[in-house]
Amino acid sequence: MANTSAEDTDPADGHSAIQHDVVIVGAGFAGLYAAKQLGRSGVDVLLLDQNNYHQFQPLLYQAATAQIAISTVARPLRGILHRQREHVTIRTARVASVDAAAKTVTTDDGLTYRGRILVLATGSEPNFFDTPGARELAYPLYSVDDATSLSSAMLGALERAAATRDAAERRGTFAVVVVGAGPNGVETAGAIAENIKFVVSEYYSDEFAAAQCEVHLVDMVDTVLPPFSTRSQKYTRRSLEELGVRIHLGRAVSSVSTSGVELEDGTELPAAIVIWTAGLKASGLLEPAGLTTGRGGRVDVERDLTAPGVPGVYVLGDAANITDAKGRALPQLGSVAKQSGTWAADNICADLQGRERKPFRFRDMGVMAMVGRGHAIAEMGPRRFQIQGMLAFLAWLGVHLVLLSGWSQRAAALVSWFRDYLTRRRTQVVVHQPDEYARARRQGPTEPAATPTTGANAESATRTATGVATPGERSQS
Ligand SMILES: Cc1cc2nc3c(=O)[nH]c(=O)nc-3n(C[C@H](O)[C@H](O)[C@H](O)COP(=O)(O)OP(=O)(O)OC[C@H]3O[C@@H](n4cnc5c(N)ncnc54)[C@H](O)[C@@H]3O)c2cc1C
Repeated sequence: MANTSAEDTDPADGHSAIQHDVVIVGAGFAGLYAAKQLGRSGVDVLLLDQNNYHQFQPLLYQAATAQIAISTVARPLRGILHRQREHVTIRTARVASVDAAAKTVTTDDGLTYRGRILVLATGSEPNFFDTPGARELAYPLYSVDDATSLSSAMLGALERAAATRDAAERRGTFAVVVVGAGPNGVETAGAIAENIKFVVSEYYSDEFAAAQCEVHLVDMVDTVLPPFSTRSQKYTRRSLEELGVRIHLGRAVSSVSTSGVELEDGTELPAAIVIWTAGLKASGLLEPAGLTTGRGGRVDVERDLTAPGVPGVYVLGDAANITDAKGRALPQLGSVAKQSGTWAADNICADLQGRERKPFRFRDMGVMAMVGRGHAIAEMGPRRFQIQGMLAFLAWLGVHLVLLSGWSQRAAALVSWFRDYLTRRRTQVVVHQPDEYARARRQGPTEPAATPTTGANAESATRTATGVATPGERSQS
């Protein structure tokens, strides 16, 4: 089944489409692992992504806080799939529309591709839940672009704060508010606080770090890391406070402005930078494609990962609501995405060979989060064996090293972590794109109406506050 792409004409609308056995949209964990497995099985695949690289989201916060290089979290797709190149065609293009029934996708450059089988693995995007000012002014952290832009914005703000001469104006000039105390928010707040404590005081001065730099973590839920055990939550809160993070729980953000955030109770938190890790939703491509969407705008897939009522269409990873054997919703996690990609590939091979598909079985390896140097929590395996502190920190490093794609990326991460642990230096402190990305987003279209954050929809309210969809969103494969 090697590269059999061909042009054909759609009998319905007369437009020509480039035909492949399998068309995959999205080269995140789900799409990439599906393409790899199909390529290994000799199936002709077209893999489409708006980027020519695979981004490793779990370490984006480290790229944004100058702990590791951007090149460590972004690996070229053609490098990753080099061995499968005979069967897997890669196209860098943004998909503008999908017709699920016809199994076609049309890219921004006007080309249409049709698959005998269509796989949608378009991931998540930030959900600002219509919070005034959030979309325009807060920084999300879901992509390499986000990490680059946040890193530059923080460094720019730090330089401006350091240049403030007026003693009366100095207090809190480099204040960062992180909205959402789920795993992404906790890791990001911890990393920034650690930067202030160890790096800013070294590169600038102790006085500057103490008097002008602050990190706030805000969530409308009354705990950090809702998916984790009470013991892990307590440990995390204590570790963050020791790092100097000011925690505001049980308080929702009502608006974001150029001067900071306002909480529902009227409290104002002045901030130079607001980081939004408080909500996820599926890509806007799914519903217009003719697919029925459920919680979080995701497709409630069948147990075999196919979209209900649309033969030959699979929806994977963060784009799907996937359930386990007991019907419980699985969280939006790299491990779920990766395993769903490989499983779907096996089911697609079964489709193409006329065999029966198998229901997805998830192998739960547990949940983990990093709080800072020597401080992490891990709840391992389906029985959630708990470890904390240095042991969990080392386990976190090991797991992420294994998960990272590519030997050079692993080596680079290891060197960065080693240097980071032993010294107070960061080599990645470079302003890449001063605030242009944020400005471009501010001019973008306004966000469609989102799920309400309060009232009847309690689950959505939890998502708003925490950035997690269900208990246990974050684990490792
Ligand atoms: C900051 C952060 C930290 C995280 N940490 C962890 C962790 O420690 N452990 C863990 O297990 N999980 C973690 N997660 C969750 C995990 O990264 C996701 O669950 C996983 O990446 C989902 O994989 P996916 O393939 O479904 O989607 P994604 O990885 O998001 O990939 C989607 C792909 O689709 C492409 N795409 C989207 N729209 C289009 C379009 N219109 N045209 C073309 N291409 C398109 C994107 O460019 C992207 O490459 C984290 C997530 C974030 C954001």
